[in-house]
Amino acid sequence: MSATSEQEAKGPFPVVPFLKIPEKGDPYLEAQQCKACQAIFLRERSTCSSCGARGQMAPKRLSNTGTLYVYSIVHRSFPGIEVPYISSIVDLDGGGTIKGNLINIEPDPEKVKMGMPVEVIYQIAPRKDAEGNEYLTYYFQPRA
Ligand SMILES: [Zn+2]
Repeated sequence: MSATSEQEAKGPFPVVPFLKIPEKGDPYLEAQQCKACQAIFLRERSTCSSCGARGQMAPKRLSNTGTLYVYSIVHRSFPGIEVPYISSIVDLDGGGTIKGNLINIEPDPEKVKMGMPVEVIYQIAPRKDAEGNEYLTYYFQPRA
């Protein structure tokens, strides 16, 4: 990254709306939690689809640690996307279930275990958009 390209390109922008990038400090994931029934949703909504309460949603900062709930090793994808990779769903500590790619581990069923401890990491996405904007994305990786 040269100084010139930093001035031209904007961002990084969050790759999904529930990824928050504060002015200062580290990025984090934020969900909406129903104050009536504690259900957690990633997308903004005004009515809880769990208990039906209206206007009870409050932002909730999610944990960066969790456990692997389920995964699949993807061998075929869109052109330009490297395979195999591990698509996974993680239960975050304290609530929230999030889909994302599991990295920094071999895509081998012998190595990837359901229930293994993982953590959320944040990285600049490998590709920019047509305007050259950078995006920040998140992955999961095994936690020691
Ligand atoms: Zn609710």
